Amino acid sequence: MLFDRYGRPLDNLRITVTTACNYNCVFCHREGEETNNTQLTPDQITDVATAAYSLDIRKFKITGGEPLLREDLPEIIHSLKSIGKGIEVSLTTNGYLLEDKLNRLVDKGLDRVNVSLHAVSPQTYVAVTQVKGQDKVLRGLSLAKDYSLPVKLNYVLTKANVGELEKVLDYASKMGFNVNLIELIPQGKGKEIFDKLYVPAEEVLPLLESKSSRVEVRPLHSRPIFKLETGIQVEVIANYCNPFFCAGCTRIRLTHDGKLKTCLNRDDNLVDIRNTLMDRSHEKLYKLRESIIKANFLREPFFKMNGYGATTYDGKITCPLRKIAQLSLSHEEKKKK
Ligand code: SAM
Repeated sequence: MLFDRYGRPLDNLRITVTTACNYNCVFCHREGEETNNTQLTPDQITDVATAAYSLDIRKFKITGGEPLLREDLPEIIHSLKSIGKGIEVSLTTNGYLLEDKLNRLVDKGLDRVNVSLHAVSPQTYVAVTQVKGQDKVLRGLSLAKDYSLPVKLNYVLTKANVGELEKVLDYASKMGFNVNLIELIPQGKGKEIFDKLYVPAEEVLPLLESKSSRVEVRPLHSRPIFKLETGIQVEVIANYCNPFFCAGCTRIRLTHDGKLKTCLNRDDNLVDIRNTLMDRSHEKLYKLRESIIKANFLREPFFKMNGYGATTYDGKITCPLRKIAQLSLSHEEKKKK
């Protein structure tokens, strides 16, 4: 397994298969990528994943844009699953097309799915996504349950939908789905509306605490996990001003147009593999491996500890240590004792 200069392992690859989307979420970060029509072929995606597999990466997360818009998504999943043993392929989707397409995805070996559900009430759902899709998404989610496919709901916390959190948790509990409670990230449209819509996770911690029997911390992004009394769990994904989030980062990204991206928040240190992806020689796999090794070397925590607070790698933002970071820290300390 590869480790970067900060001792962080690299165990997963997040793959943007398209930037096209049938939604228009008011805060979309677009995975920190430029939007255009370019997309990689299933073979190109599989070549990168094969090189990653040879470096012990076993987890592949497909994202977009909206990945379900790609007609060849079943082929991509099948091809990723065929690379070798122990591979987990998951998908992040707005869920609108799930009821029409899930059958073939499961058939090709999809292991689990994250479905974005920022509200249960139709009005708030439309205010956030700008699409009247909530009924269709709920039908897709029921189908996923019927297939016994593991589901996580992605709920992005903002001022527009903070009032929906309890309803989302009630729905998730009823369905037996775990929840990712994601803080707003100031990227893409998320940057434009950050000051207007950002709600720190700390504001909803009392609610989560009141519903939980215990709290654990997942190594990935040092995410606090609230174990709700209803039996589901809520993972808090709080990136902003949180050095513990970055300290637990174990991923790189493959962009829709053939670049390796070391961090959602950065595009100044991309590794361009477009030429290699066109290469037809037997050295292609070797070159892709070298590119992944290079991208791994370039990985760097976006937020780092700075005395008693956090600072970005370039020193442009500094902030005091957040309660959510302290939660991860105190958990680490308890484990050591
Ligand atoms: N279209 C798919 C969807 O809506 O799930 C996949 C792509 S979307 C960019 C991936 C995930 O990022 C979704 O769960 C989405 O809600 C979340 N997301 C988008 N913009 C965000 C932002 N500014 N901050 C935090 N999460 C965001």
